[in-house]
Order: sequence, then structure tokens, then C-alpha cells
Amino acid sequence: MPERLPRIFVTRQIPPTHLQRLQREADCVIWPGQLPPSRADLLAGVAGCDGILSLISDRIDAAVFEAAGPQLKVVSNYAVGVNNIDLAEAARRGVAVGNTPDVLTDATADIAVALLLAAARRLQASGDSVRQGEWKTWEPTGWLGCDLVGRTLGIVGLGRIGAAVARRLVGGWGMRLLYSSRSDKRIEGLETARRVTLDELLAESDFVSLHTDLTEETRGLIDARRLALMKPTAVLVNTSRGGVIDQSALVEALRGGRPLAAGLDVTDPEPLPPDHPLVTLPNCIILPHIGSATVATRDAMAEICVDNLLAGLAGQPLRCPCS
Ligand code: NAP
Repeated sequence: MPERLPRIFVTRQIPPTHLQRLQREADCVIWPGQLPPSRADLLAGVAGCDGILSLISDRIDAAVFEAAGPQLKVVSNYAVGVNNIDLAEAARRGVAVGNTPDVLTDATADIAVALLLAAARRLQASGDSVRQGEWKTWEPTGWLGCDLVGRTLGIVGLGRIGAAVARRLVGGWGMRLLYSSRSDKRIEGLETARRVTLDELLAESDFVSLHTDLTEETRGLIDARRLALMKPTAVLVNTSRGGVIDQSALVEALRGGRPLAAGLDVTDPEPLPPDHPLVTLPNCIILPHIGSATVATRDAMAEICVDNLLAGLAGQPLRCPCS
């Protein structure tokens, strides 16, 4: 009797090249929808699987591990953030978990800088005024924004993406760098960075960019009290996870003009309902979580994701383990 191929539930179509490599080695069921599988579809889809290729919109918790069964060996997340996965439960069951670090650092850092510039220079509201036929003339005092050169940048979480954003803005715009992180950092090209407390960072920075992972410790980290510490001229950017900011507090803070503006690639939930106050505020720019959305990056993520799965199925160390 030939050995059965391992079974994999893939929760969405990902770039095809590497998926085809996986399909040669495993019996893959690929969720065909553009939207994530419902909870019931996820639980049914993973039943009897040896591996799961998941996205951040899939909550991989004890119920999913239970539904999959004891033969489940590996969960490979098509993301660097793994806040959608119960890592403790995976460890308890001996299931390996992989993610896709590094390859998305530059693309995500680019989006953070784009948001920072867009929020500082009011690109969305001013561009909308052109589209709506409201542009009458060059205005000496119209659409004034803030400069970046020589200003203070505060990076919350100076990890891979935080450091890549800092390099761009320190090297390109000559910004002074403050950071808050759990540990001291010595990073080439960022030797002048000063580690401060989060409260100091918020009070002193002209631009604040969030780059922590979402954990129980960082959920709601930027709350009403901390937003009130920010300068009334400051810009807040979030490309980490929506849950790092208390969004109700952000709505109130932006309505009160402190901070002056925000640029968000991530929200909680995703998507935000179109009538959510954050969507309608003129000083808030929201993107549909496109940090890693370049052709090359998504392809590189697919490569790691498939490598992780194949290693996990073979009982070997994952290329990028996160458990
Ligand atoms: P990383 O290298 O692990 O960086 C995370 C940083 O957060 C680390 O420097 C860590 O500090 C810091 N941190 C963790 N908990 C903290 C806390 N309580 N207070 C202060 N700092 C804390 O990860 P990465 O590759 O840069 O990715 C960061 C996050 O970006 C991911 O987890 C993901 O959620 C998000 N992301 C979003 C997109 C997007 O499309 N928008 C794309 C990729 C990633 P230590 O080093 O001191 O531990």
C-alpha cells in the first residue's frame, strides 16, 4: 500500500508558484473563497489535516487544534505576526508553528513611511478635494502640514520593521531617534538612537510609529492617557496591529486634535465598518492592511510558508520557527 500523502488545509489562495510546490508533496485543500473561511468551515477544513497554512484572519486556537486531530504537525502562518495563533496550545500539543519574518520588513517599512508622509502632508484630504472639484486656486495658507527634516521620531518596538523605518527616516530626513523596546538595541546606522520610556517617547516625539507585536502586554498600549501625552502637532502611525491602540480613545484624541493626525495600516476589527468614526475623520488615513503587499514580498512569504510546512511535515526544524 502506498503511503498516504500528508493533508494540508490552506485557508486562502496565495501566490501560486510555491503553492504548486506544496501540491506536489501534499494533498492540499485550498479554501476557494476571497473571504476567510467561516469558523465552521475552518473547523471542518482542518479535520484530519497534518498541516495548516493559515492567514492572520484565521483564529487558530484550541478548538482548531482539537478539530484537526492528534496527527497535526505544523501550522504555517502567512505573516510574521502570530497573534492569531494560540502558541501555548500549539506547544502543549507539540505542533510546530512557523512565520515569515524579514522578507516583509522593507515593504512594511515603506508603507509606514508612506503613511507618515501622507498624514503629515494631508495627502488624502487634499487629494479628495481635487477629486470633488473643490480645488479653486493655490492657497498660501491652505493644506498646511508639518515638516519632517530634523524632527524627532519615536519608534515603539525597535525590531526588524521598526529599525527599517528608523533607517529610512534618520538616514533620509535626518530625524532624531527615540525608541522604546523591551531591551537595549545596538543597531548599525542607528547608533545615536536613545532608549526612553514609552511615556517620554510619546511626549517628546513629533512622529510616533508603532512596531510591537500584538500580545497581552501590548494590547491597548496606546490608550487615552498615553495619547494625551502626545504633542498637539504630532503624527501617529500604526503598521503593527490594530489592537495595540485603544481605538475609541484614538477617535476622541483625533477629534480633539491631539495627535494632529494618524495613519493606520491596521485596525481592529479588519475591515472597519465604513461608518466607523475613524474612517470619516479628515485627519486619519486608513489603508486596508497592505504593509506586505508587493508582488516580490508576497511571493517570498509564500516560499517561506511552504518551506515551513514541508519541514514540519518531515519532522524537521522549521525554516522560520516561532514556537
Ligand atoms: P520584531 O522584529 O519581533 O519586532 C517587534 C518589536 O516589538 C521587538 O523589538 C520587541 O522588543 C518589541 N516589543 C514587544 N513587546 C513590547 C513591549 N511590550 N513594549 C515595547 N516593545 C515591545 O517583529 P517585526 O518583524 O518587526 O514585526 C513587528 C510586527 O509588525 C509584527 O508582529 C506584526 O504584527 C506587524 N506587521 C504588520 C505588517 C502589515 O502588513 N502592516 C507586516 C508585517 C508585520 P524586543 O526586541 O526588545 O523584544
